[in-house]
Amino acid sequence: MNEKTELLGMNNDEIEEYLSSIGEPKYRGRQIYKWIYQKNISSFYNMSDIPKNLRVKLDENANISIPRFLKQRVSQDGTRKFLLEMIDKKRIETVVIPQSLEKNTKYSLCISTQVGCPIGCSFCATGTSGFQRNLKSYEIVGQILSSRRELSKRLKNFNSEMITNVVYMGMGEPFLNYDEVIKSIHLLIDYKGINIGQRNITISTAGEVNGINKLAKEALQVTLAISLHASNNHLRNRLIPLNKKYPIEELFKAVDNYIKKTNRRVTFEYIMLDEINTSRTDATNLIKLVKPLLANVNLIPYNEIQGIEFKKPSESKVAQFYEWLEKGGINVVVRGERGSDIEAACGQLSSRKER
Ligand code: SF4
Repeated sequence: MNEKTELLGMNNDEIEEYLSSIGEPKYRGRQIYKWIYQKNISSFYNMSDIPKNLRVKLDENANISIPRFLKQRVSQDGTRKFLLEMIDKKRIETVVIPQSLEKNTKYSLCISTQVGCPIGCSFCATGTSGFQRNLKSYEIVGQILSSRRELSKRLKNFNSEMITNVVYMGMGEPFLNYDEVIKSIHLLIDYKGINIGQRNITISTAGEVNGINKLAKEALQVTLAISLHASNNHLRNRLIPLNKKYPIEELFKAVDNYIKKTNRRVTFEYIMLDEINTSRTDATNLIKLVKPLLANVNLIPYNEIQGIEFKKPSESKVAQFYEWLEKGGINVVVRGERGSDIEAACGQLSSRKER
């Protein structure tokens, strides 16, 4: 028996070509593209403007494998964590964050790019649960389709544009899965399909310099975020093992080059770990690194995880660190903590534990 062709992950032209290859008119491809990416439909039988015989033929020969929703946890602040299952039964987590507490609010989605993560950051639940495999582009965009479907079912409000922002900040290091990530971005930004604004997309890397250099050459307007978390190599080696391969000097050279090429502002994420990276010297070193660049710093007070040694600093320590940076001329914000009560906050995702 022939393997079925996966249509999810194909762009409009590729679906049209597929339809041609099975002896059907190309325009049917455009119709199917809309059903998949605008209406989140994964069953050919529900595509009402496709002739019945073609629906049967497609069902026999093709798949649309939107990840299967298994369960959700809902935070007091409205953040939802979805557990999704791929066709090979691998599981990932996707976080849906409301932009306000209003009834018809829009949502941001934090998506995963790998099952587990090979980087192994010492403060991160994903990093300590090992690496299984990269996600394909269809599994990356599938997280949006699956989340939209679940949200509209639960909120009884179908609006295909309810998710307006996407951050590649869930499980995995996006630049270790570069080609699939870039392919998924092109699907997200297609105005004839999912239609997310390029400027509403952020890719966050732990400092994979190759990926930063490659992204600088793409004609994309997405935001680059760097998980920095330490301002000296000794500490960064301990927190993010990738730093041994790409130390701070090399990372900042790549970021500088990225900014010069794209003229786009970069965000540095700085998870605040009590007694580890919150001293006056840490702030002074951070200012020296960031000030020469077109960049801002997001301070993220750590979300404690059972079994991991690090602690969250007090509010006064966070405020003090913020003040040092601000007075040092840095464009800085403290990022509001979302979903920490359901372990959906930064660094708390894990495929190992079933929730
Ligand atoms: S923080 Fe990011 S890069 Fe580091 S282990 Fe966790 S998921 Fe991987």
